[in-house]
Amino acid sequence: MDPKDSRFSTQISHLALDIGGTLIKLVYFSPNGDNCEDGSIVVGNNGCSVVQGRLCFAKFETRKIDDCLDFIRLNILQHSGVQHARDKFSVKATGGGAFKFADLFKEKLGIVFDKEDEMHSLVCGVNFLLKTVPREAFTYLDGQKEFVQIDHNDLYPYLLVNIGSGVSMIKVDGDGKYERISGTSLGGGTFLGLGKLLTKCKSFDELLELSHQGNNRVIDMLVGDIYGGTDYSKIGLSSTAIASSFGKAISDGKELEDYQPEDVARSLLRMISNNIGQIAYLNALRFGLKRIFFGGFFIRGLEYTMDTISVAVHFWSRGEAKAMFLRHEGFLGALGAFTSYKDQSHSTDLKPHHHTVERAVVKCSDDDSFRHIPVTANVNDGEAIESRRLETTVVTSPRILHRNQVYHSSFVEEEGITKACGCPLLPLKSHIKGPAPVSEQDRTDIVDEAITFFRANVFFTNFPIKSPADKLLIYLTFYINVALKRLEGCRTLAVGTKAIINLGLEDIPVPGEAGFPFPGLFSLPSSQEEADLFRNYLKQVREETSGRLLSVAYRANGTPNKWWLAFAKRKFINVVLL
Ligand code: ADP
Repeated sequence: MDPKDSRFSTQISHLALDIGGTLIKLVYFSPNGDNCEDGSIVVGNNGCSVVQGRLCFAKFETRKIDDCLDFIRLNILQHSGVQHARDKFSVKATGGGAFKFADLFKEKLGIVFDKEDEMHSLVCGVNFLLKTVPREAFTYLDGQKEFVQIDHNDLYPYLLVNIGSGVSMIKVDGDGKYERISGTSLGGGTFLGLGKLLTKCKSFDELLELSHQGNNRVIDMLVGDIYGGTDYSKIGLSSTAIASSFGKAISDGKELEDYQPEDVARSLLRMISNNIGQIAYLNALRFGLKRIFFGGFFIRGLEYTMDTISVAVHFWSRGEAKAMFLRHEGFLGALGAFTSYKDQSHSTDLKPHHHTVERAVVKCSDDDSFRHIPVTANVNDGEAIESRRLETTVVTSPRILHRNQVYHSSFVEEEGITKACGCPLLPLKSHIKGPAPVSEQDRTDIVDEAITFFRANVFFTNFPIKSPADKLLIYLTFYINVALKRLEGCRTLAVGTKAIINLGLEDIPVPGEAGFPFPGLFSLPSSQEEADLFRNYLKQVREETSGRLLSVAYRANGTPNKWWLAFAKRKFINVVLL
């Protein structure tokens, strides 16, 4: 294998998941970040390979778990050259969903969860961030954000308040030393759930947007409402302090519809944030903890939420304690699971491995926009997914991710499948006219397999055939190679599409005719009818493959994806072992 090509076999994408009640969080390592042109491997002086790349983050709603499965299948497993249920591969996972959805991931992606305890992962994630990522923690009060310098030798003890669907409060005394001391069920899930009921909002982002425009004083009963506009100064309560969240609704004589949803959303956000801030402080007080870090996706970097929590902590501690926030607040558990990968390079199993993650963060941009970008369903476009990248250096064992066997087709079942020239005419998820039976849209078909396995299978110089479907897989691997060669030099999707359309206009030879690529792979047609049937099937499957290939070979903005087009240079010469 020439050194240029070897980079593709190092598409190691350590992947860790945190599957919560509301959201699925993903952290994965990608060596092909923008700043590392070739996913370059620098040999470190400790004899290990150092792969420089980026940590990528993505999130999905748990109720839309299929989007997450698609994302992993298309963006992560494909890059690792792994994508079949038979190629079980292990991934770190935490959160309740690591149990609840274990079977689903195994069945759909062949991923076996290596489960990490949720609290342990949260703590590991925060420790990792505080120790390795510069400018991670900050305070937010009165509109002022200030980064906090963390002294690694004086980090413990601290209180971690993770505001997810529910809230956990964890006293952390050291690496791996922690205790969950409290929590509350009034958390992000309550805000979202009640908010949906009360305002008819459909999403968290909509609810946040509404709350921006609202005024909580319309519904909240303030001290001033009770005291005729004055402070209750004797006990230190200003007239604007909330005496009772939603209290005005008792005597306003209004129905829900009479209130503006903006004001309802604002009061709700204030109520939940305030309550958490107060409970957090009381727990810090219980154990004499001075530092309180708040995390969880509920915060989302929202100034109003952070301000409310900070004010609550400030108020109840009389200025003694400060609330601190984390820039990667939502990914604590996933990061913790990610950092728990151990070196598995001594294993005798030759399937793809994860490697030791030694966590040397090179730099981390200050851009916080990733917190606000909504989740999109376009799983082919990694940039459009809510994600950000934390540049990092991951030290891997010298043995790179590589596989010593071709990927075979899973369509070994021949019953009920029509054949032409010995090739099974397998069902396709296709709207293109042709003889292929129609496959269900959520199932993998032979085109998915061919595209998924292409970048791994193309390296092999021989291909032992295990089933007739493997023959079709070989044909399609060859065809993808041909199509990529046509795309080489096509700098935009539009130009590439034209090239592919032209390829589609070319004659399609069948076995026995000049130009058929693999003499002997398929049997000769016994009649003109069989020849036509096979030609029509090949036409349909090639067109379908072309369409799907274009969507991976070009990014959503129409620019070429070098991680695909670079394979145009590769020649797929198979010695087919019949
Ligand atoms: P969990 O692990 O319980 O899912 P998270 O830390 O992921 O917890 O936080 C979930 C909470 O984050 C939700 O209850 C909601 O309040 C808030 N949230 C932030 N962004 C979103 C979003 N795009 N969709 C749904 N909830 C969101």
